[in-house]
Amino acid sequence: MITLVKGFHDILPDQAPLWEFITHSARETLKRFGFREIISPVMEKTELFQRGIGGQTDIVEKEMYSFADRGGENLSLRPEATAGILRAVVEHSLLQRESPLKLFTMGPMFRRERPSKGRFRQFYQINAEVVGEDSPYVDAETIAAAHQIMVALGARGLMIELNSVGCRACRANHREILHAFLSDHIGRLCEDCVRRMAINPLRVFDCKAEGCRSVMKGAPLISDYLDEPCRLHFDKVKAGLELLDVPYRLEPTMVRGLDYYTRTAFEVIHEDLGRSKAVGGGGRYDGLVHELGGPEAPGIGFALGVDRLVMGMDEADPRFARGVDVFVAALGEHARDAAFQLVHTLRSAGFSTETRYGAKTLKSQMKQADKLKARFVLMLGDDEIAANQVTLRNMATREQHTIPMEKAHEILQGDLT
Ligand code: AMP
Repeated sequence: MITLVKGFHDILPDQAPLWEFITHSARETLKRFGFREIISPVMEKTELFQRGIGGQTDIVEKEMYSFADRGGENLSLRPEATAGILRAVVEHSLLQRESPLKLFTMGPMFRRERPSKGRFRQFYQINAEVVGEDSPYVDAETIAAAHQIMVALGARGLMIELNSVGCRACRANHREILHAFLSDHIGRLCEDCVRRMAINPLRVFDCKAEGCRSVMKGAPLISDYLDEPCRLHFDKVKAGLELLDVPYRLEPTMVRGLDYYTRTAFEVIHEDLGRSKAVGGGGRYDGLVHELGGPEAPGIGFALGVDRLVMGMDEADPRFARGVDVFVAALGEHARDAAFQLVHTLRSAGFSTETRYGAKTLKSQMKQADKLKARFVLMLGDDEIAANQVTLRNMATREQHTIPMEKAHEILQGDLT
């Protein structure tokens, strides 16, 4: 048997309705917030992610599926969606036609991380981006959209963890002070963090190693080094969330793993899944469009992980129950042909309809109808065919009566609505 690639997973038919529910609901919510869909490729030039996400980030350094294709071009499966979306925005000059641009996409991402519960190497994200506006209202509204997606899915125990990582100027100021602090504790930092320290010391806050975490408890926080415009912007974002009743708590050590974030950074926590389970995150990236060869356009976005959202849902929830409108049961060879045709007529008329060719007795066919949670069963025997009739059984009330065959779909229409 050839098995799955490690860290990849199948979404089996019992789970697929949860995925459909989540993506459909998220799509509806995002449209209400004015987002339009963009569908970009799952593979891009490796250089895009090196430039966009940052060559020294864990994602780019250690986790990308990168390879040279048969023509020798260096390509990577996308580890996140923002870089590809912004590449498309710049390449097609979308900002010249519309600003702000509000875009969303849904699809698989690939990171060669260590697999664990809720952590896969192919996972599915819902992404939203607003490009071209830096108003703090946009930040609050974008966070509210992420929150609203969760609310519409019926998630409880929601919390937004919020921080501001400042602009380049604040970061430069803080960086020196943080660097000096880390130099004083260098002996307790892990190897990775000693390297990170020189490149982007802020990322040491993200390290999970025990030694680094205990050092960082006393580290100078970026939130204490925001300049006046960034502080005012952040105050307005918080006020905006309060106006919209979006619950948040400040997390001054949350910096997120990518280099491109500026100012607002946030994570969506679903506390019902456990305190550490972020289902999504995002933030502002004011220099990124320019970095990718576009105009100086600010932006903000987020990603919600569908695999994690599914973890918070129950397959047995009646919303995901499998059910067909009609099961057609046939008794006798003659009736089988007529049933075969009737199934097709009903499907064409818009009813989900099933039958089973292998099941011969009425009893076994009724069992199948039960299993499929059919709301109605239409029974055809040779006598009924001769009289051009069928027997209609309501599976909930167990009532049944004989009706003219050609009226079947009209009657079902009335009963099903
Ligand atoms: P990130 O792009 O790392 O900010 O992740 C945003 C969201 O994507 C996370 O909160 C998760 O829900 C989801 N996610 C990220 N990495 C993985 C992974 N390896 N497996 C499953 N979900 C992931």
